[in-house]
Amino acid sequence: MKKEDLLKFIRKLNMRIFSIIIGLSITGMTLIGQTSEKKSKGFIMDKVVKSDKEWQTCLTPEEYQILREQGTESAFTGEYYNHKEEGTYTCAGCDNKLFSSDTKYDSGSGWPAFFDSLDETKVNIKRDLSYGMIRTEITCAKCDSHLGHVFEDGPKPTGLRYCVNSVSLNFTPKKTD
Ligand SMILES: [Zn+2]
Repeated sequence: MKKEDLLKFIRKLNMRIFSIIIGLSITGMTLIGQTSEKKSKGFIMDKVVKSDKEWQTCLTPEEYQILREQGTESAFTGEYYNHKEEGTYTCAGCDNKLFSSDTKYDSGSGWPAFFDSLDETKVNIKRDLSYGMIRTEITCAKCDSHLGHVFEDGPKPTGLRYCVNSVSLNFTPKKTD
């Protein structure tokens, strides 16, 4: 091989290696992009958004008053304050899984109480200054329905008391097979 040909060959080879490197890094970046997209998908919750009218048609008047107008059921009247079955408590507005019977305890208040939510991304927390009190409201992260309030007088390990209206909840028993 002549010297010139050899140089040409090396140049071609360099170009090829260069394009392979570029190709690989593009593939790499695409892959990284895809994985991060996949990862973030797990955290994006499909929000349930309905107009007041739509809520009125799919909820009972009592549910509407509590879930959509921040109402509170009377103590010791709800379906679940003394409910001890094993299973999952879901949002009455959208079926979002909110609380497990594993964290339910008897607070003596007359409302269902939990010392933790099933997942911190499922329940939103916000300051509520109504009725001259400073309380922390809890809402369903998926449909923004009112659930109740969270207080800092709960048992260990969290020290929290998620005080929830029975009306805001539905219950799915644990499968025993
Ligand atoms: Zn909900």
